[in-house]
Amino acid sequence: MNISITKTTCPKEKPASNTLGFGKFFTDHMFMMDYSKDQGWYNARIIPFGNLSLHPASTVLHYGSEIFEGLKAYRRADGKVQLFRPMENIRRMNTSAERLCLPQIPEEDMLEALTAFVSLEQDWTPSDPGTSLYLRPYMFGNDETLGVHAVHNATFIIIASPVGSYYKEGINPVKIMIEDQDVRAVRGGTGYAKCGGNYAASNRAGERAAQMGYSQVLWLDGVERKYIEEVGAMNVMFKINGEIVTPALTGSILPGITRKSCIEVLKKEGYKVSERLLSVQELADALAAGTLEEAWGCGTAAVVSPIGELCYQGTKYVINNGEIGKITQTLYDTLTGIQWGKLEDSFGWTYPID
Ligand SMILES: *Cc1c(COP(=O)(O)O)cnc(C)c1O
Repeated sequence: MNISITKTTCPKEKPASNTLGFGKFFTDHMFMMDYSKDQGWYNARIIPFGNLSLHPASTVLHYGSEIFEGLKAYRRADGKVQLFRPMENIRRMNTSAERLCLPQIPEEDMLEALTAFVSLEQDWTPSDPGTSLYLRPYMFGNDETLGVHAVHNATFIIIASPVGSYYKEGINPVKIMIEDQDVRAVRGGTGYAKCGGNYAASNRAGERAAQMGYSQVLWLDGVERKYIEEVGAMNVMFKINGEIVTPALTGSILPGITRKSCIEVLKKEGYKVSERLLSVQELADALAAGTLEEAWGCGTAAVVSPIGELCYQGTKYVINNGEIGKITQTLYDTLTGIQWGKLEDSFGWTYPID
């Protein structure tokens, strides 16, 4: 793939590491390429970061044809920058594209776009503990018509944002509300695709939970509202009576790369991990019996997020005295150790950038 590079003439000042937060600052450039049904992907380019110009009828603005990915570049102690399992994000992007009738990107082209872009922007990767350069590849339908059909024109972009440590004041367990009204996804829908529409549909429950002092919602399945699916925009895991349980990927759950990595780490350490249906009743019974030993969410942003309290139909349950559990801590230490290059990567998950 031929990528043209136009460098900015006015590079921005890099923000101080303690002001970063999440997704507030953006680097100097962005990667962009266009697709048309006749030409395929064309005009791959890295250009100065700036606003887009869209036709007012552009598909994405009306019918929500949008998918995205989220991964991070990490600064190692030796100064080098590395990615974590980028091929997993690349494959998932194409799976999402297939579901929304957006075009496929050849895996080697997406990897080339990602590495060329990160290589150019790598100075933006902060180095303080817990900080990273968040990468946001995304694609949207960009036909200039109100007609409803599979898109004929699309745009693929990668932007990057230096982000702060998720845990500035140590890993504090969060309070989660089990949502029994709104649902995030149903089987046959778009739950397994990383698409913007899933997020739009989940905001209402998130706002309601926030008003009641909860940081995220735990979603139940969309048909019976009986089985546990995900927590906010993270996958979820529990330790019940010694067994580590995470909901099976039934089609309405996003197949997280952190989820997959947690399972692989736990299996390697000799734990038994069950991917199965887990009903909210089983969870409530375990909470009442005191056999729910640990609960945590997992995703790229937080790595793992311990759950200290669950609220279901008005009843509050405290988990592990509201403290982070042993397995949650092990997963955090192992994954962050590999990501920031402090632990040996015996899985072959890291991908250094030149
Ligand atoms: C991105 C995402 C996750 C976590 O996936 P990772 O690959 O681990 O970052 C979980 N659930 C939803 C709904 C997501 O969008």
